[in-house]
Amino acid sequence: MFLQNKGKTMKDLFGKNRLKINLHTHTTQSDGKKTPEEAAKIYKDAGYDAIAVTDHYFFTEEGSLSGLKILSGAEYDTEMCCGREGVYHIVALGCEKDPEIEKEPRLPAETIVEKILAVGGTPVLAHPAWSLNQPETALDLSAITLTEIHNSVSDAGESSRPYSGCFADLVACLGKPMLLLATDDTHYYKGDDETKNAVMVECAEDATEKEILAAIRAGKFYATQGPEVHIAREGDEIVVRSSPVCRISLFSNVAWAEGYCLRGEGLTEHRHKITPREKFIRAEVTDAEGKVGYTNYIVLK
Ligand SMILES: [Zn+2]
Ligand SMILES: [Zn+2]
Repeated sequence: MFLQNKGKTMKDLFGKNRLKINLHTHTTQSDGKKTPEEAAKIYKDAGYDAIAVTDHYFFTEEGSLSGLKILSGAEYDTEMCCGREGVYHIVALGCEKDPEIEKEPRLPAETIVEKILAVGGTPVLAHPAWSLNQPETALDLSAITLTEIHNSVSDAGESSRPYSGCFADLVACLGKPMLLLATDDTHYYKGDDETKNAVMVECAEDATEKEILAAIRAGKFYATQGPEVHIAREGDEIVVRSSPVCRISLFSNVAWAEGYCLRGEGLTEHRHKITPREKFIRAEVTDAEGKVGYTNYIVLK
């Protein structure tokens, strides 16, 4: 179960304010099945503090709908290719104005990213596993520092490749530990893709869009389907703390080390002694309902 905010900002295990946000939402402005107002009400009723409305080739300004904070957004994609070329879906968050990216002819990913940055936006590499993105080519998009470790709609309808943890770990092995979001990419609103994922952003209850985006770019969030999770380095140990879960897993550039998966009941802490080969490390926790929480990477060297 998600912590409920009951009209007030959620406090995490350390007493810090957290805003619960879905950063990838489609509506009838593109191929989503609910209007922006209906989508906002669904997320508000589920205890979210904000959503980014990110319709395909349609820029939504920041504001408020059905009493929910709306972050500005849009999503752009490259020509659908296969194999090594792949296809890139890039979500634009927090643009100060419409980046005015034309749908036809499709632009290369680098140009889409440049246009998002030119209007103060934050580009996100969306659902890289679904897109079959190659770790090496993610390096070419050097200005993108955020990606999605889990994307709900990629496990709904006619898709079934929602998890991008392996992709992110391979990119991190190449020297680029990206920030890891979990988003819904809501389209259908039939119970499979709405209100499943969130990022829990550390910021004030009345934070502006600019402040929320700054906190996200600074990695001040964890991503989750429910459980709360934090990771920290304490001396020569990595410490993971969470709400009660039944699995705590660690992921690094090393395929396996002792203590990389702790299983049990009601686990709330795991300590791991850093080994000489580890360059980065992140954690996932899974609760009794199978819901997962994801930390960002801690870079060790
Ligand atoms: Zn997409
Ligand atoms: Zn999308």
